[in-house]
Amino acid sequence: MELTNIATVREILSRHGFSFSKGLGQNFIINPGICPEIAENGNAQPGWGILEIGTGIGVLTKELALRADKVSAVEIDTRLLPVLEETLAGFDNIKIYNEDVMKADLRGIIERDFAGLHAAVCANLPYYITSPVLMLLLESRLPIESITVMVQKEAAQRLCAKVGTRDAGAITVGVNYYGTARQLFGVSRGSFMPAPNVDSAVIRIDINKEPRLAPDEEEFFFRVVKAGFSQRRKTVANALSSLLGADKEKVYQVLRELGLPETSRIEALDMQQLTELSAGLMKLMK
Ligand code: SAM
Repeated sequence: MELTNIATVREILSRHGFSFSKGLGQNFIINPGICPEIAENGNAQPGWGILEIGTGIGVLTKELALRADKVSAVEIDTRLLPVLEETLAGFDNIKIYNEDVMKADLRGIIERDFAGLHAAVCANLPYYITSPVLMLLLESRLPIESITVMVQKEAAQRLCAKVGTRDAGAITVGVNYYGTARQLFGVSRGSFMPAPNVDSAVIRIDINKEPRLAPDEEEFFFRVVKAGFSQRRKTVANALSSLLGADKEKVYQVLRELGLPETSRIEALDMQQLTELSAGLMKLMK
């Protein structure tokens, strides 16, 4: 069954009485070039299990299952289950979990379904929860090696920006803390049904094998990053002293030790400088 053929997709969906939910970010891929490209760039290959988030009618699920040993997918919309039974009939390496990705036991799914396999995430993410899903996947330190996802073009730019440049935000630091992100290719809005109002891009995050910091240092680092970026136009000293309760003089002292001007703003610091700033402050505040 050709799941990128518009007439076929319309026929299946209308037969099942399915109407698209904007609230659930339902824009299904109808450009035949995209899903094979995501699968091939996303580690869908022998010896791997792939976790998919949001199946839609299974257009990407199918391409993943053709290449990887196993595919487990979490889909919140119960109305899609009978559709998937039809579109994915014949595959014996796909498991669908009818759950909310934010509440599902993703670790349990990966450990159970992908025992003995490498694991990765591939998805055309529902855009309304792009950042929460990515942070959930990263922060929960799931046993996955990469995350290859379609996101809005602007989100892709932010996620893949260099830390220390204007395009970077707290989420950029978060992603760079846990791994390395890069943009793979752009996707125009016409590649989806229905077409969204924005273009998209596919990014891949390769996840670090070892954590950069010890747990207490990590917790403090993210407090600094959140406090700093919530007032990113202020100087580091102003943003951190009000939000973290850090004495401004202490912040100046750490900045001086790092060879940075007292007027530094958080958005201008690179990953190394942010880590050192956090470590220096943590020592002084103890
Ligand atoms: N993978 C399909 C494709 O590319 O055509 C569908 C992608 S569509 C952008 C996002 C999918 O995620 C929809 O099927 C939607 O129902 C599902 N979804 C939305 N919110 C979800 C959630 N919280 N948990 C799991 N799935 C969700």
